[in-house]
Amino acid sequence: MPKILVLDPGHGGEDPGAVGNNLKEKDLTLKLAKICAEKLASYDLNVKFTRENDRYVTLYERANIANRLHADYFCSIHINAGGGTGFESYVHSTAVGKHTDELRAILHNQIMAYLKKKGVKEHGQGKKAANFAVLRTTAMPAVLLECLFIDTPADAEKLADESFLHGLANEIAYGLARVLNLV
Ligand SMILES: [Zn+2]
Repeated sequence: MPKILVLDPGHGGEDPGAVGNNLKEKDLTLKLAKICAEKLASYDLNVKFTRENDRYVTLYERANIANRLHADYFCSIHINAGGGTGFESYVHSTAVGKHTDELRAILHNQIMAYLKKKGVKEHGQGKKAANFAVLRTTAMPAVLLECLFIDTPADAEKLADESFLHGLANEIAYGLARVLNLV
């Protein structure tokens, strides 16, 4: 039985997420998740989505989808806002120092190695913890990625660049493959 990965493109439908520089978070998260799934297609892995189109899904339903599937890993993809720059990742506050945190480090470091080459830094300490609903209510190891700031022009310029998005999605995919012991 292949392992099950749930990709969770943040926001959607009536909830655009963060908006800035002619970009909408809900579009970027869906695009990244879809490219990521394409990159993972060659692995022995069952990739599922919490949404595959522009529709609204509650945070609890997102977690429930993963729980019903008995997923092995849950990866929520978001774009940041609020006037900062760079990349950060989150695990649930209670997961720090545990297996979920170790898995996050594999994924985080894989993504950051690429981003550094593109001139993108970690936002603050980079590896963070929070009591986010999708992290709290998922029954499997879960991570939430905040990929650059949509309202910061230098970050938005990268997010608007298809080749950058493909590169980023490729690293997310490879990092997830490593997390799931597929490589
Ligand atoms: Zn978001």
